Amino acid sequence: FRMTDLRAIVAEITEEMAAAPDRGRPASYIPPLARVDVGQFGMAVVTADGDVFTGGAADEAFSVQSVSKVFALTMALGRVGDQLWDRVGREPSGSAFNSIVQLESERGIPRNPFINAGAIVVADVNLGRGRPRESVGELVRFIRSLADDDSIAVDAEVARSESETGFRNVALANYMKSFGNLRGPVEDVLALYFGQCAVAMSCRQLAMAGRYLMAGGVNPVGGHRVVSAARARRINALMLTCGHYDASGDFAFRVGLPGKSGVGGGILAVAPGRASIAVWSPGLNAQGNSQLGTLALERLAMRTGWSVFGRM
Ligand code: GLN
Repeated sequence: FRMTDLRAIVAEITEEMAAAPDRGRPASYIPPLARVDVGQFGMAVVTADGDVFTGGAADEAFSVQSVSKVFALTMALGRVGDQLWDRVGREPSGSAFNSIVQLESERGIPRNPFINAGAIVVADVNLGRGRPRESVGELVRFIRSLADDDSIAVDAEVARSESETGFRNVALANYMKSFGNLRGPVEDVLALYFGQCAVAMSCRQLAMAGRYLMAGGVNPVGGHRVVSAARARRINALMLTCGHYDASGDFAFRVGLPGKSGVGGGILAVAPGRASIAVWSPGLNAQGNSQLGTLALERLAMRTGWSVFGRM
C-alpha cells in the first residue's frame, strides 16, 4: 500500500458501501434520527501529511451523538486532569451504552467516560459552576478550533428532542446524583450532555477534528498542541477499549484502531501517526454502532494495513 493509492481505496470502499445490502436501522429512540435515510454513506481520511481523501456524502452534516464524548473527555481532562479518574473508571463495560446496572454495585462510578453514564459525569465536570448554554458553547468552540471550521454548530431540534425523550439519561443522572457523583443540578448537566450529543458535523469536519489524536496531541496544521502526547495516547486507548460499548472487542478485532461511535451513525477512528478517519452511515447494528461505518473501516484497515496491533 502506498499513500498514493489511498484515493483509490476510499473511492472503492465508497462504491462497495453504496451497494451493500444490509445497512442496519437508524436509532429509533431519538425521533429526528429515526427519520434519516439509511441509504447514505460518507467517509473522510485526513493523513498525517494533511492530505484529505473523501468519498460519498463526506460533506453532509449528521448528528455526532456519542462521538462528541471524545472531545468532551479531552476538555474535562484539561479542566481537572487525572482527578477525573476518581469519578469515572477506565474499563470496558461489556454492557449497552445506556445501561444502568453496573452503577448500583459500583456506587455511582461509571465504568468509563464513553458510556452514557460516564459521559454525563464528564459533562458535570465541564459544566463546573457554569450555565449549560455557555458550556455547550465552549465545547462547540473547542471542536471548531480542532477542525479549523467555524461553521460547526448544535442542531437545536435534535437537542430539544433528546431532552424530551432522554428518560434513561435522566435516570442515569439522578442515580449518580444519589451517590454524590454529580455536583451540578441534574437538569443543567443533562442540558449540556444533550447539547453536546446534538452537535452536527460532516465526516470531513470530524476527521479534521480528530487530527490531534493521530499526531501525538498536536494539531498538525500550525503545530498547535491540544494535549500532551501521553494524554492523546490514553484517549486512544480508551477509544479502543470502550469506544464501541459492548462491541468494543469486536471493533478491535475487525478494525484494530481506536474508534468512537455515535448513534447518529458516525465513527471517528484513529490510525496513530498515519490518519484521522471519519465514516458515517445512519443504519446501526444491534449494539448501536454504524453497520456500514464499521464495515468500511474494516476494509480500510485491511487495505491500508493500518492497525495498532502490528504490520501486515
Ligand atoms: N444522545 C445519545 C443518548 O444519550 C447518545 C448515545 C450514543 O450515541 N450512543 O442516548
